[in-house]
Amino acid sequence: MSAEKRIQLRGVCCVCGRLHALKKDGETLVNHGYTVEWGYFDGTCGGANNVHYGHSAAPAFLADYIEGLRRFRESLPTRIESVEATLKNKNEAYQQMKADPSFSYVDGSQMRLEIANLRVRFANLWELYHVGIQSMIVVAEKAIADWKAVAPVAVDLDVEAREVREAKAQAKAVKDAERKAKALAQAERKAKALNNSNSKAAKLEAALKEQVHCALLYQGATVKSWIQAFAGERDALSVYATVRADHWLSLGEPREELIYNVNDYALEVRRDKDGKAGMCIYQVCVMPTLAAYRRMFQ
Ligand SMILES: [Zn+2]
Repeated sequence: MSAEKRIQLRGVCCVCGRLHALKKDGETLVNHGYTVEWGYFDGTCGGANNVHYGHSAAPAFLADYIEGLRRFRESLPTRIESVEATLKNKNEAYQQMKADPSFSYVDGSQMRLEIANLRVRFANLWELYHVGIQSMIVVAEKAIADWKAVAPVAVDLDVEAREVREAKAQAKAVKDAERKAKALAQAERKAKALNNSNSKAAKLEAALKEQVHCALLYQGATVKSWIQAFAGERDALSVYATVRADHWLSLGEPREELIYNVNDYALEVRRDKDGKAGMCIYQVCVMPTLAAYRRMFQ
């Protein structure tokens, strides 16, 4: 490995205005793509392989470049004509197709639409070229007017690489910290939610241990009411299953236990006999019941 410093000269491109590496000659820019904000012009930048903006030959290059843009702009009508001719040919081709019975499957309206779309698309494209070329000429003319000699920038590639590495590491550290903070906040939220549901469950357990007013509902109507203290939620669910089965059997016909629609049943438990809605502390319907069954037979 060489102990020599890896120095790269860079200069501003006359056309795209970006900083690019210079070739070994220290004067001309390396090949690079042309991109602009509007993004319609791509391919090689017109400033590539030419002198950088600070070079004394830059104004002459820019004048040539402007000339080229003007020539291109002047050629636009001819280009439009050739596109129009192509479209006309297409139209003729379509007419021929239409006359030929073996092309009967071609959808005429679709083809006409296609041709019309092409016309609009090309018209837009030419418009865009006109606008784009004009603004490129204005920028280049200003670049000539503002020109002054600027020496290329010498960049120590190792230093730059280190700076890039450091910036990346710093960005990563920031991201890691954000991720950690996010995970922590999420864990806190989860713990809080668990705590809440635990305390809700504890409240329910405590409430059930008092003498409470119970009502068994079948298809929306109260079919049995009683007062009872439960050992807890599991006890209440167990009692619920029993009274539900008893009620089902009491309906008379030969029925097998549990062959009923659990959606038909509900258990309401209230602190006060005629407890308002807010006092209704316990109601079981299909999903909690299934969950309860699972718990009971664990
Ligand atoms: Zn460029």
